[in-house]
Amino acid sequence: MNNLSQSYQAVLQRIRQAEAQAGRSSNSVRLLAVSKTQPIEAINALADLGQRAFGENYLQESLDKITLRADLEWHFIGPIQSNKTRPIAEHFDWVESVDRLKIAERLSAQRPPNLAPLNALLQVNISREASKSGFLPENFIAQVEPIMALAGLQIRGLMAIPQVQSDFEKQRVPFAQLRALLAQMQKRWPQAPLDTLSMGMSADLEAAVWEGATQVRIGTDLFGARR
Ligand SMILES: *Cc1c(COP(=O)(O)O)cnc(C)c1O
Repeated sequence: MNNLSQSYQAVLQRIRQAEAQAGRSSNSVRLLAVSKTQPIEAINALADLGQRAFGENYLQESLDKITLRADLEWHFIGPIQSNKTRPIAEHFDWVESVDRLKIAERLSAQRPPNLAPLNALLQVNISREASKSGFLPENFIAQVEPIMALAGLQIRGLMAIPQVQSDFEKQRVPFAQLRALLAQMQKRWPQAPLDTLSMGMSADLEAAVWEGATQVRIGTDLFGARR
């Protein structure tokens, strides 16, 4: 086995173990391979091992990769400038970093009508960090209300990047808060397919799975440190 194969199996193993420890069913948590800054060769190699879903942060780089591997599932997870929404709406399967109404409106309007609505997650600034974007948890439903009505988006749930903490119990707190916000949405929109909590990265995936993550986003522990 080469290094990528080993790290892939190790990450899958960590996820399966975290599911078991949380009393959750096996394969209830999906892996998003965060491939930003990684060359297409690394993506091809991981795809050969069976990985389908990839996350990208930088637009130009990701469009080049999508052109080469349109067969894979692509998630945009980076900050979104409002003048860059069109290529995201046209080329991605998912966008996980919708952080304000204006961005949601543009993505919806620019989603080509021949494609299914764009799967979207709302990014929540769950640790209230000035350096991070996202919706704040206060008055959350009122903020989400106009977004749920947009025809070009299929809102699937929430994404967050909490403040870095090393202690498991401390890591759990913001993840539990995100889960509670999703529960509020599920109560308000019982018919909507609100099935996704994208939370947990290399350093805190166990705490995220414990608190109900349905998808973890892993870069470093798969591909190694980014250059
Ligand atoms: C880079 C990135 C990740 C992956 O982080 P690692 O620590 O490398 O696993 C996950 N989510 C987002 C939004 C990212 O930008």
